[in-house]
Amino acid sequence: MANQGNKTARVLITKKRSGAEQSRKNAASNSTQAKKSVSVVVKKPLVLVVGAGIAGLTAVRAWARRGRQVIIFEASPHIGGLASVEKITVAGESFYIERFYHHFFSKDKNLKRLLAELNLSKSLVFRKVKNRFSRTLVHPLDFLLFAGLTALPFWKLVKSLALRDVYRFFPRQLTHPSGFRLMMYKKFGEAYKDVSLSWLWARIHARFSLKDIIFGETLGVIEPSFKVVLDALVKRLSSLGVKILLKTPVSSVDKLIESHFPERIIITTPLHVAKSMFREFKWQTPEYRGAFNVVLFTQRPISEYYWDQSIGGGKENSYLVIVNQSLLNRSLPVHVAYIGGYVSSDHWVFRSSDKQVVDRVVSELGIEDDFIGYRVFKTRFAQHIPTVSYLSNMPPRNFVYRGVPVDLLSFGNLVPWDRGVNYSIILS
Ligand SMILES: Cc1cc2nc3c(=O)[nH]c(=O)nc-3n(C[C@H](O)[C@H](O)[C@H](O)COP(=O)(O)OP(=O)(O)OC[C@H]3O[C@@H](n4cnc5c(N)ncnc54)[C@H](O)[C@@H]3O)c2cc1C
Repeated sequence: MANQGNKTARVLITKKRSGAEQSRKNAASNSTQAKKSVSVVVKKPLVLVVGAGIAGLTAVRAWARRGRQVIIFEASPHIGGLASVEKITVAGESFYIERFYHHFFSKDKNLKRLLAELNLSKSLVFRKVKNRFSRTLVHPLDFLLFAGLTALPFWKLVKSLALRDVYRFFPRQLTHPSGFRLMMYKKFGEAYKDVSLSWLWARIHARFSLKDIIFGETLGVIEPSFKVVLDALVKRLSSLGVKILLKTPVSSVDKLIESHFPERIIITTPLHVAKSMFREFKWQTPEYRGAFNVVLFTQRPISEYYWDQSIGGGKENSYLVIVNQSLLNRSLPVHVAYIGGYVSSDHWVFRSSDKQVVDRVVSELGIEDDFIGYRVFKTRFAQHIPTVSYLSNMPPRNFVYRGVPVDLLSFGNLVPWDRGVNYSIILS
């Protein structure tokens, strides 16, 4: 085995020398520092990863297993990105919660594969829960569209069509959305009219299995929290020698190339962040929606529904949903409800303190003030908006920059699939 490993390493060194030749030439500033770095690369090819979310943490496994030296740069003080967790102590109990609620679907095959690899299959528990949605299919075109997209085998056929095209002769339906159009409005804001139908196609095709349709949908959750997955990944990566550097934002790919001479660079950040790292970037980047979650800890559930979307049905109310996570995750020691929504990046929540956000949300929703604790989580880059125009010139998943192969594994350029833990794992 050891011999085989060495052999692989020699082959890789050869590849590295030719593949990154251009970047080496550019970067060969003749400084002593540069010469030192070259000798490191020649010993063991180096893969650099930007972002320690699920995409970054899973994409590196294959490279580390193949004997590469791997370094992950993470801007924040913790790993996990949008699926990160925080320790909570409330009513004398300590436990971990996800900063943003997570549930999974029976068709999330990549998540299941990853859990099996980490010996964590039993941590994914599926349960039937009661959900309450705002009015659903309310216009005849909704039915036609759903039936058509469900029957359609190829998403590319609807890639250049948006809701705006479908409802061309019914403009009021878009100005005052209801049913699934209202859900899309709450997720994407006014831009929902321009979202490619391939996104809707993928939502339908990725979510529902035949079993769900016949027996009713079950939702999955990782118990006791997503922390078990993050811990197991970190353990696996450290056994493979992967280094994770927290609080280490990357601002320039050129600098990475010049200082490290990597064999490959993997970038998993939002796409406009990725774009800012390159001197030349000829593709479009999408607009992003932010999100906030007010997490309330209570002694009893604040509603009998896991997913309660009947609140704030009016178009002006941006609150998407109440997610009673403890109705799905039964291992939580107190009741945990997430209240939140997708908002523009200049929304008032980003200018307010946590206390102001909680006070306003609780009073607007008329929730009784009997919670025993709260947390507020916000992100400006929760969801890209996959409009038809963005899809026409979006960044590719792989390209070569200054002689170095770059994998741009952001959820924003994974079409037609959406953001989601399962899809980020595909990226590995
Ligand atoms: C409100 C909400 C609810 C969700 N619910 C679900 C759900 O129910 N089920 C589900 O499957 N998914 C859900 N998701 C989505 C899921 O969390 C994400 O799709 C997934 O975690 C994305 O992982 P990622 O690694 O692709 O990206 P990210 O998690 O965004 O990771 C990118 C990482 O890059 C880092 N970074 C950014 N800039 C730099 C820089 N310059 N240098 C270094 N590092 C940088 C970031 O700090 C971050 O850690 C939800 C997300 C939100 C916001």
